[in-house]
Amino acid sequence: MTKPIRRAGVIGAGVMGSGIAAHLANAGIEVLLLDIVPPNLTDAEKKDPAARSRFAAGGLEKALKARPAAFFHPSNARLVRTGNTEDHFAELAQCDLVIEAIIEKMEPKRALFARLEEVLRPDAVVASNTSGLRIEEMMQGRSADFRKRFLVMHFFNPVRYMKLLELVVGPDTDPAVVARVRKLGEDVLGKGLVFGKDTPNFVGNRIGTHAMLTAIHLMIEDGLAPEDVDAITGIAMAHPKSASFRTGDIVGLDTFAHVADNCYSALERDEDRDVFKVPAYIRKMIEAKLLGDKTKGGFYRKA
Ligand code: NAD
Repeated sequence: MTKPIRRAGVIGAGVMGSGIAAHLANAGIEVLLLDIVPPNLTDAEKKDPAARSRFAAGGLEKALKARPAAFFHPSNARLVRTGNTEDHFAELAQCDLVIEAIIEKMEPKRALFARLEEVLRPDAVVASNTSGLRIEEMMQGRSADFRKRFLVMHFFNPVRYMKLLELVVGPDTDPAVVARVRKLGEDVLGKGLVFGKDTPNFVGNRIGTHAMLTAIHLMIEDGLAPEDVDAITGIAMAHPKSASFRTGDIVGLDTFAHVADNCYSALERDEDRDVFKVPAYIRKMIEAKLLGDKTKGGFYRKA
């Protein structure tokens, strides 16, 4: 019999972490949702617990209000406690599972796993929601024991609606850990599980990022508007809610660029990686904070 997951920690309360926390709570799991202490707090705010945990609280609030419908029933919000990674990290010791959903960069993720190794119970499972960083690299410096209970749980956005959960297992992941996560994913969270390989961007994003960048190149080179491309890749292709540029705005252009950059640098042959080169046009949008739905808009103005 696999041991059920009753308490989970989610680290990173952005688009994905808040959605994952909401989905877990909806399934009756207690969640501790942590984000960093916001930089640039005033001296008074530095002593204020609410201000120190503002990022996590804000992420949860966004998940509660998320469109097209609320991510989960507001009364389930009581199952989620919010906090920050300076004051509440030790509380992760009470969790059966911790899901990492922070920025898609190798170094911050590695630093976080090193901290988790210090505090977690020996039987706690650790998962990364990375879009495509390799397990082998994320686990550099971690013990054999930590590697046994680590795997990738790649949720898709929006977590509440997307049925797919891509699981990627490392060479050292314990089959009992996989069985535990599989039960959670299928029986408790209602996801359809697919196993990917530990390759750059796995399957979901190797294809998804390629398709998105192809749409961007077509828009720029052929002088098309996002609406023109979306009219073809959306309803006409039976994807009413996931046309190319609509999806880009939901994902977030900063995250999208990190995912594409990581894939570009992980692939060795020019013919494999050239399509993952992010155009200057997208870098300018990111500089202008046109990141998509999480800001004032991206390809589309926020509704
Ligand atoms: P996001 O930018 O919306 O949120 C990231 C959050 O992590 C922010 O709130 C940030 O303050 C926090 N953070 C950054 N460094 C931290 C640290 N060291 N400790 C704690 N919190 C930290 O990003 P997102 O879109 O939610 O992506 C999170 C992860 O999920 C990434 O690995 C991304 O590749 C992956 N992912 C994203 C999508 C998507 O559609 N956006 C889909 C699947 C997977």
